[in-house]
Amino acid sequence: MAIRLAVPNKGRLNERAVELLLKSGIDLGEDWGRRLYVTARDQGVEVMFVRAQDIPAFIASGAIDLGVTGEDIAAESGAPLKRLMGLEFGHCRLSVAAPESSGIKGEGDIPDGARVATSFPRLTREFFESKGKGVEVIEISGAAEIMPYLGISDLIVDLVASGSTLKMNRLAEVAKIMDSQAAVFTSEASLKAKGAEIADVVDSIRSVMAAEERKYLMADVPKGRLGDVGRMFPGIGGPTVLSIAGNDEMVAVHVVIASKDVYKAVNDLKRLGAKGILSVTIDRLVE
Ligand code: AMP
Repeated sequence: MAIRLAVPNKGRLNERAVELLLKSGIDLGEDWGRRLYVTARDQGVEVMFVRAQDIPAFIASGAIDLGVTGEDIAAESGAPLKRLMGLEFGHCRLSVAAPESSGIKGEGDIPDGARVATSFPRLTREFFESKGKGVEVIEISGAAEIMPYLGISDLIVDLVASGSTLKMNRLAEVAKIMDSQAAVFTSEASLKAKGAEIADVVDSIRSVMAAEERKYLMADVPKGRLGDVGRMFPGIGGPTVLSIAGNDEMVAVHVVIASKDVYKAVNDLKRLGAKGILSVTIDRLVE
C-alpha cells in the first residue's frame, strides 16, 4: 500500500528533511525542487512538499500518513498525532521573553493581566493557565520581538535557538515553555492501516542518522596484534577479520566506529604496525 509522506516545502526544516529522504534512498527524481509532490519510483512512497504549519492537520485528517515538522508546530496544532522519532535538527525552545528594562527576571515577576504577543496562542494559554496566571494573549503571525517596542505587548512567547535575536532586540528569556526539534509524526489510523510501510520509512531515516555518526575503518594488521585490535574495537559485533591473499603476516580488519573515535583509532592502529588504513563514509547502517 502506498504511503504519503510530507516534508516542509521551505524554511528552516526543508533542507535537512529532504536530505534525510534522499540519503534514505527515496528516489525523488531530478526536478523535485519545482514540484509539489513526487512519487518515488517503485518504492510505494509519495512525497508531498507543504508548509510545515499545515502538516499536523494533514496527518490528522488522513490526507497524509507521515510528516516531518517541528515539535512546537505539532504541539501548537493540538492535533492528535503520534510522534515516531526525533530527527536531531531544528533544535530550539519556545520561551517567554520580556524587555530587559522591564525588571521581569522570572515567571514570578510577570504581573497578572500582562499582554503576551505570540504566534503560539494555544501553547501560551496552556502555559500561563498551568501557572495560574491570567494574561492577555495577543495572536500575531510573526516578528514577535518588535511587539513590546511598539507597545503592543508587555511580553512575547517565541522560538529561541541561540538567543541572539532576543538580545539584539533587548529582550531577555524569563521562562521556557518547551524544547523542540524536527520530528516524524503519524496518526493512529495510518499506523493501523500502514504500520509496516511506515516502519520501513522510519527505519530508513534512522539508518541514515546512525550511519552519519559512524565510519567504516579498514586496516591491514600484523596477525600477532589481533588481540590488541579486538580490545580496541568492542563495537558492533567486534571487528571482521579477513585473510589477505599472499600475505601470511598480516590480516585485514574491518570495523564500524563512531566518527569521533576515528582520530584516536587511526593513531592506535599505526602504533600496532597497521598498514593501508582507510576510513570510509557509510550511507546507511541497519543494526
Ligand atoms: P520556518 O518558519 O518554516 O523556517 O520553520 C519554523 C520552524 O523551524 C519552527 O517552528 C521550528 O520548528 C523550527 N526552528 C528551528 N530553529 C528555529 C529558530 N531558531 N527560530 C524559529 N524556528 C526554528
